[in-house]
Amino acid sequence: MQAPVRQGRSSCRGSDMPLSLNPQTRLLVIAPHPDDETIGTGGLIQQVRAAGGEVRILLLTDGDNNPWPQRWLERRLWIGAAERARWGRRRRGEVERALRKLDVPAQALHAFGWPDMGISVSLRQDFAPLLSAMTQQVQAYRPNVIALPALGDRHPDHSAAHVLLRLALTGQAELPTLLTYLVHGHAAEQPSERMLIDSTAVQQSTKLSAMAEHHSQMALSAARMLRLAGRQERYERVEPVKRQGLLCSLPWQPSPLWLPWLRLTLAGHAGVRVWSWNEAPRVRDAAGRHALQLPPEMDGQGTLFIKLHLDLPSPWIFDRWGWWEV
Ligand SMILES: [Zn+2]
Repeated sequence: MQAPVRQGRSSCRGSDMPLSLNPQTRLLVIAPHPDDETIGTGGLIQQVRAAGGEVRILLLTDGDNNPWPQRWLERRLWIGAAERARWGRRRRGEVERALRKLDVPAQALHAFGWPDMGISVSLRQDFAPLLSAMTQQVQAYRPNVIALPALGDRHPDHSAAHVLLRLALTGQAELPTLLTYLVHGHAAEQPSERMLIDSTAVQQSTKLSAMAEHHSQMALSAARMLRLAGRQERYERVEPVKRQGLLCSLPWQPSPLWLPWLRLTLAGHAGVRVWSWNEAPRVRDAAGRHALQLPPEMDGQGTLFIKLHLDLPSPWIFDRWGWWEV
């Protein structure tokens, strides 16, 4: 069923943050994988379209690193590069059909084809081209609302997408409204400002039918996918952290067992620094916690993010520590 498209004004109910949607609304959705656009923002997309606004989807990866559903649906064990690419094409087709259901025209989908499950690594190793691609998209489209993954999302592609988008906005005179959505993990207990989307019954049913277009994801996990897509959409507004001085308290107290493999990444608009835990310029703050002495050249760069990760192969895809805004 198609959501009705009507011109006019509508607003999303927010416990703290009303957002007025109208024909001037230009929504940019940052989707790390096919299905995030529907799970995270399928209701908001429909409401922007219903208000006469424009929507663009920035799809960062084709979701091609998705071996278990592929093994199941293709009845194969071994997945090589050709099979992976084919799976990516399949998922690209699914997102195109889902967007059609959500009344988003095909030309509104812009895909980067970045490595699935590899955005965090690319951010560390190949930062400049990623940031440049993101910046060009934002500058070309000039959105006034951006829906982006939450920094605290435990999937490393999601949190890295947040970091890249935020850094792409560094220095921009007028910031769009930034709304974060969470797919993996739990929301903060005390969010800054929160907005809930009141979808109509028709919009909710359209969202579920868009979700059904993601056959590859529904095959093994229909119940989970429908539960995620069936939740009330909830966004939190980004409020930049005000940094004071060059000493940054670290939110982690890692076990000494991990120390040989721990890496700290600091990302700012001008670049990325990676240290081993032992080589990082750390001190103990007044409370005895670990703190990072920011390099002077990173000061004055605006927003900075820091991440702790283990430099060990792991079958576990979710972040243990994740990114933090400094
Ligand atoms: Zn995702």
